[in-house]
Amino acid sequence: MRAVVVGAGFGGLVAARLLKGVGLEVVVLEAHTYPGGLAGSFYHRGFRFEAGATLLSGLAPGAPLALAAEALGVRLPATPLPPGFPLMEVLLPRGRLLRLVGREAEREAQRDFFGPQVLPFWAWQEDRAQRLLDLAPRLPWPPEGEELGLLLPLFPRLLPLLPDLFLRPQARAPQDPDFLRFLEAQLLISAQTQASYALYAALALDLPHLGPALVPGGMGRVAEALAEGLEVRYKAKVERLLLREGRARAVEVAYGGRRRGEREVLAGDLFFLNIPPEPLLGLPQRVPKDAWGAFVLYGVLPFEAPPPYYRQNARERPFAFLSLRPEGGKTVFALSLHTPLALWEGLSREEYARLKAQWQALALRLGEALLPGLGEASPLFAATPRTYRRFAGRAWVGGYPQTHPFRFPRVRVLPNAFRVGEGVFPGQSVPAVVLSAFRAVRLALGRAGLAGKGEGDYSALPGDPTYW
Ligand SMILES: Cc1cc2nc3c(=O)[nH]c(=O)nc-3n(C[C@H](O)[C@H](O)[C@H](O)COP(=O)(O)OP(=O)(O)OC[C@H]3O[C@@H](n4cnc5c(N)ncnc54)[C@H](O)[C@@H]3O)c2cc1C
Repeated sequence: MRAVVVGAGFGGLVAARLLKGVGLEVVVLEAHTYPGGLAGSFYHRGFRFEAGATLLSGLAPGAPLALAAEALGVRLPATPLPPGFPLMEVLLPRGRLLRLVGREAEREAQRDFFGPQVLPFWAWQEDRAQRLLDLAPRLPWPPEGEELGLLLPLFPRLLPLLPDLFLRPQARAPQDPDFLRFLEAQLLISAQTQASYALYAALALDLPHLGPALVPGGMGRVAEALAEGLEVRYKAKVERLLLREGRARAVEVAYGGRRRGEREVLAGDLFFLNIPPEPLLGLPQRVPKDAWGAFVLYGVLPFEAPPPYYRQNARERPFAFLSLRPEGGKTVFALSLHTPLALWEGLSREEYARLKAQWQALALRLGEALLPGLGEASPLFAATPRTYRRFAGRAWVGGYPQTHPFRFPRVRVLPNAFRVGEGVFPGQSVPAVVLSAFRAVRLALGRAGLAGKGEGDYSALPGDPTYW
């Protein structure tokens, strides 16, 4: 049985390894020349820069990347940060707040900065995040219609969480303007908005405790480790998904590089789409009205910046997020700002150049407050929502506010074609993408009638097989 995986982002790679692990023939088709997609690294003027993701978290025991590493038997080339490590500095009107690794250390820092009235909020956050994390790997989520029955045995454990599906996290927080701003800024990094429901926000705020790690050489190193041993065909752009009788039968591939000009129809039994299915099916891809995009300024500084390696300017809007990676006496940085997509549409070449220069100046001004001297970087260049659209080959890159828990696309696109990656959990970071791979593979194997039938070893898949 052959599985075809379209896209070598983290979602595609984790799914491919899980499928290979259970004995399927797996082919991964990737349009670029390297793995990782938006969590990969690209070379520019001798340095490795991050395509998107800069902060890797999820390596704590039971967290998605730890589960993946265990299930796949891969050693991820990432160095977990110890408790107490200054992970992130958040610049607020009141001063600079450190987010430290480890709950105990963070609680103390929060108490000292905001006062003891924030402690009940963190107690609630920890409780909800832990309950969710415990459930996440085995929860058939997002559920397909026929699986609703599988949620029933979990109901007693889901019940205490229900009120938090309808509340905003701010409703759980003390009404201190700086604390509310802090929540908004942090949620913007991991949940894309303050308008998330409280349960999801509790998990998103858990980032420093989910096992954050540094990746020497850049995020792409982790993607390379995941791609090892897989048949990944690079410069292989999938243009169409071919159907017969309502099922996917093959993909049409256009090759570049040394195979430039070659086309192939590659047949398969199961298909995993690490990209939106619409363009492959000749359908228009809808961009939600409240979707966001990213503006990222990249550069290299002639010195090694000290920790914290992640810094956020939440003193004024738009909030700016600076990621630093010291390397050989220099520091590679990415400074990202959320930006409305509409701003970048329908511009002439000159208008686009002018807007890009304006945003670059804005980013530098906000970034200088986080690390003086940023403007002296060389090289210094920027990526806009247009750049990302071209790079990722989809209508937009970003996410949309998690306003309610049912705001997600379907995992199963066709009976034998499954969405994997951030298409399932839009803009919600690498750990969510990894969970989506577990989800899609379990769903697919269950439907293919392979789960638990002895063709291969499924015990390596995280989660309880009775929920397949
Ligand atoms: C600016 C920015 C900063 C971010 N920061 C963080 C962060 O710090 N931490 C974090 O955890 N997450 C972060 N994220 C989110 C994270 O990067 C993504 O959620 C995640 O990488 C998406 O993975 P994926 O597998 O869904 O898809 P992608 O990474 O989009 O991978 C899809 C792959 O498919 C390939 N492809 C596209 N079209 C075709 C085709 N037709 N044929 C073949 N291949 C194709 C692409 O080249 C790509 O390699 C950030 C995202 C952005 C944009």
